[in-house]
Amino acid sequence: VEPESNHHDPRGIEEYRAYRSYSPPWGKRSRKPATRGFSGVADETRYELSRRLVRLGVLFGFFLLVPSIWISFSRGDAALAVLSGAAFLAAVALLFLPSIDPGFGDAVIVAILFFAGAWHQAGVGALGSGPAWLCASAAVATVFFGLRGGAAVIAAEAALMACLGATARYPLEGPLAGGVLGYLLSSLETIVLSALVSFGQAFVLGGLHRSNEARGRLASELSARYARLAAEAAGRVDAERRAVFLESHDRLTQLPDRVSFELSLARSIEAAAGRGRILGVMSIGIDRLRRVCEAHGHGAGDAVLVEAASRLSRAFRDDDLVGRSAGDVFLVMLSDIKSPEDAREIVEKVRKAFDRSFPVEGTEIGVTASCGIALYPGDGLGVEALVRASDVALHAAKEDGPGSYRLYDAELHRRIIELRAIEGELLAALRAEAFVPWFQPKVDARGRIVGAEALARWSLPEGGLRLPSEFIGVAERSGVISALGRIVLAKACASAAAWEAEGLDPIPVSVNLSPYQFRSEDIVRDVRAILSATGLAPSRLDLEITESGIMEDGADAVERLAQLKALGCTISIDDFGTGYSSFATLRDFPVDCVKLPQAFVSPLPDDPRAGTIAASVIELAHRLHFSVVAEGVESEEQFAWLGAARCDLYQGFLFAAPMPEREFRDALARGTVDAAL
Ligand code: C2E
Ligand code: CA
Ligand code: CA
Repeated sequence: VEPESNHHDPRGIEEYRAYRSYSPPWGKRSRKPATRGFSGVADETRYELSRRLVRLGVLFGFFLLVPSIWISFSRGDAALAVLSGAAFLAAVALLFLPSIDPGFGDAVIVAILFFAGAWHQAGVGALGSGPAWLCASAAVATVFFGLRGGAAVIAAEAALMACLGATARYPLEGPLAGGVLGYLLSSLETIVLSALVSFGQAFVLGGLHRSNEARGRLASELSARYARLAAEAAGRVDAERRAVFLESHDRLTQLPDRVSFELSLARSIEAAAGRGRILGVMSIGIDRLRRVCEAHGHGAGDAVLVEAASRLSRAFRDDDLVGRSAGDVFLVMLSDIKSPEDAREIVEKVRKAFDRSFPVEGTEIGVTASCGIALYPGDGLGVEALVRASDVALHAAKEDGPGSYRLYDAELHRRIIELRAIEGELLAALRAEAFVPWFQPKVDARGRIVGAEALARWSLPEGGLRLPSEFIGVAERSGVISALGRIVLAKACASAAAWEAEGLDPIPVSVNLSPYQFRSEDIVRDVRAILSATGLAPSRLDLEITESGIMEDGADAVERLAQLKALGCTISIDDFGTGYSSFATLRDFPVDCVKLPQAFVSPLPDDPRAGTIAASVIELAHRLHFSVVAEGVESEEQFAWLGAARCDLYQGFLFAAPMPEREFRDALARGTVDAAL
């Protein structure tokens, strides 16, 4: 998408186009004679040369005309005087054809030739200046109609001369003076001279034409080079403009990017400061853009962003500013809000902008957006604080579901402060490797331990634990989840290897992978390295990935799963059925096990709908040759119901809660979890 090419049109290119399409007036006219059978010389050359010839002819003719007519009359030859006058008028008429500027060199050559012919005629003295005109008309004919045309004119002239010779009494000197023979000789002389001059001119014109052609080639080469240079120069100018534009604008949507948005916001804050004005900053997030990409490809995601950008730009007032933050989030600066209640109206604008469906790859899809709004000065005094606050509000809105909006408030503020604090502690905890896996048994229908899930716990320096809900999200948002996951994975593998080394029953241990971790390039390398460092047999490692974590990556995910499986690990889909995938897509994933989430298990056995879902998941999973682990089994009734539905393995507080490594080792040594109940 290059909408800005209108404003930043490479002017050089335009100029060049005009230059290319420009056709001189004579070029257009010369095309007409060409269809009339012009031959030999290119039309333009022909035209140009004849123009020069005629000009010179008119010039010389003007000086010769008066004496010629005077001589003709003084000799009593009115016919010749008329002929001279007519020739002159014809030449003047030719002159009024569209004018062009003859090159100096050509004009000089033609002038010398023409003048030589005229002088020769005059020198021979046969017919005075008249034959000079006859020569000129033959020459002009040659130019216009080629050699044949010239010859025809000369023939006509010959006939005319024969008549003139017969009627005029020219004083030839010597023995041939007077008589029929004298007239004939006089006529012949004129005809021959005329032919000589005309063909001489034609010959020279041919040469001129060739040199002109060569010059034409040179000229077109030069003009092509000029065009290239012009295009290049224009490109460079354009590139500079583009560079400035691109530096400050998002490439895809052409909206100001986050940095330039924040600069503008800073200026507006400055202007609003101390004047009691309220500014708004709104973060607008397109809901589930990832799924649009999954379903229709990345081009579709881009198309939605571009369309959203243009709709949003139109939705707001001119003094509001729409920018793109990153990914699927847009930023809007709302200048001069009267009261916080206005925010609601503004949200309505966003909703309207997304009312109509979006055209994507030939179809129409519905798209919604969530908004978070922060107000200056209430929610922050600086750019960073405001943008962050609107971001936090957006996150909160997204938690409420698609199409929601949230105003930043005190509760969100408290959350930010907490998150910041935890972020700081998290980094320290990572350095101290303060994360340890606890283990929750997976049992079979008879309650024997046949596996374990490693669940991360953050052991605090002052004693006590933090649960994953308090830090996994923070770690994901601050980009340290991979490091955290690596620590848990390594410790869990080391424990499992140690149990086996102690002679305990070898069981597979399941480790959770965050979608972010799963998506990172390093995951396969990390798993391989940890397996070989701990000596755990790959078949003893099971990786749990949530359904959405796999689905969001499409083909890449299949590839990565295949690589992980190639190491020898097994793959489980965590919280199956809470995402949006279907069994149809799941079939393509190299997976071994699905985990029936607690959400489906806890309403059992009384809720018939939950029962239908659970039974269907188990049944379909089995048909696809996946095993099924039920999570969050808390009651005997649930356990019994799931057993009847032929669930394979069970996990939940009914058997055991997650426990520290020591405790789990003891349970594993006993083989059952009874003691832990
Ligand atoms: P999850 O993978 O679905 O793990 C199961 C969660 O359910 C665990 O919570 C577990 O303690 C809890 N649970 C097990 N049985 C029962 C039960 O009978 N009733 C109830 N109410 N809950 C039960 P936990 O340990 O707090 O972990 C929460 C989530 O945090 C996990 O959900 C997992 O998504 C994530 N998580 C835990 N450890 C890691 C880790 O090492 N890496 C990553 N990326 N995520 C982890
Ligand atoms: Ca899990
Ligand atoms: Ca789960």
